Amino acid sequence: MQTQILGLVTPLMALFFAATFAVLWKVGGLKRHVLGFAIAYVLSATGFLITHIAPADGTYVFHATQVFYSLASTMMAACVCERVGQKLHLPSFAFVYVISALVLAVAVSTTNDVGPRLIIINMGYGIMFTMCATTLLAARRREILDLAVIAVMVFQALDFFVRPTLTLLIEQSIPAEVYRDSVYYSLIGLALAIKGVTTAMVLIGATIAEWTTNLRESGERDPLTGLRNRGAFEQAMQEMLSRAQEQGQAVTLVIADIDHFKQVNDIWGHQAGDQAISSFGHLIDQTIRACDVAGRVGGEEFCIAVWNCENDPAERLAGRIRQGFARLKHSGLSDDIRLTASFGVATARAGESYERLFSRADAALYRAKAAGRDCVVSERDGPGSSVADAEATPAERRRAAN
Ligand code: GH3
Ligand code: MG
Ligand code: MG
Repeated sequence: MQTQILGLVTPLMALFFAATFAVLWKVGGLKRHVLGFAIAYVLSATGFLITHIAPADGTYVFHATQVFYSLASTMMAACVCERVGQKLHLPSFAFVYVISALVLAVAVSTTNDVGPRLIIINMGYGIMFTMCATTLLAARRREILDLAVIAVMVFQALDFFVRPTLTLLIEQSIPAEVYRDSVYYSLIGLALAIKGVTTAMVLIGATIAEWTTNLRESGERDPLTGLRNRGAFEQAMQEMLSRAQEQGQAVTLVIADIDHFKQVNDIWGHQAGDQAISSFGHLIDQTIRACDVAGRVGGEEFCIAVWNCENDPAERLAGRIRQGFARLKHSGLSDDIRLTASFGVATARAGESYERLFSRADAALYRAKAAGRDCVVSERDGPGSSVADAEATPAERRRAAN
């Protein structure tokens, strides 16, 4: 009776972890891999319960439990990989499973000794978790919790390779009828409980970290455009400036401001204005590279920190956004109405502060407005600034030449 109750501890614990992941996924609005962790723990709890409750001599018990353990392991491995943006190679997993199941079927039909079955099954899982660990090692993410997840997967693989081999060296052979009284059976219960708890603790930690990152990032985003808000942009720009200083890279700041926007609100209403701001934000987001940073720093004013870029390419980037915006149709405005924006560009000088760089780019923007709007003006080192010829409309080019 006591053994029966003790045997229920592991499945109940697995169900408790499943519930924890399900709650974290739902309440935190987290990605689907967290729900996958919950499903993996439900599957392994089912496997534990079958082993524990089914009659000891039922040969089908091995197959039934292995189906659930294999599904649980595959789900767990696929989800830890998805967490870091890696895709687990499922056909290889299926191949390992099919080969193990076939060899297991032969072992079950030819000998009553549980030993060979245990070796076959555990080798299969060992290979699966090794494949999972190598897939994780290919990921770029290497924060402390990512390393902990890799360590847990390596620990899982090692346990599957080492434990059955060592125990069978001691026990030699285990007839199926006495399997539940064997040293191996007590040891596997303990090993699975330790691994289940360790894996769950690390994954719960990683999931809570994801949740807090989500919360922080949503507080840093401007809801209308999805870009960074002013504070978050300034912080990201400061970080980029110090990184550029260390690595000797160039950083250019682009400030963009929609032209005559007060009139848009006055004529077409605030809601149409909001939609135009949102479209401009999305256009900026789609045009910049992944290494650049963009933010909405004011009502209809945006900033882009262009990484590893001097004036010329940054001006061309601003020019592409300018042309794209001038072509955009806006819902809420007449079909023939097009909006424009003006751009100021400045490349950071050695050791220059964000405030100083911003004021130079802002001065360039002011000149772009003064030059007739819908153009890109660069604040270059040395005397004066220029309307970027390639990006200026004919009217601006004439004005700049005078
Ligand atoms: P300029 O070409 O000189 O930039 O002229 P402008 O009319 O765009 O002038 P300015 O940049 O000073 O005006 C910005 C206007 O943007 C003022 C405000 O009514 C409007 N605005 C600011 N934030 C929002 C917003 O969130 N939604 C909407 N619809 N309008 C906003
Ligand atoms: Mg404006
Ligand atoms: Mg403005």
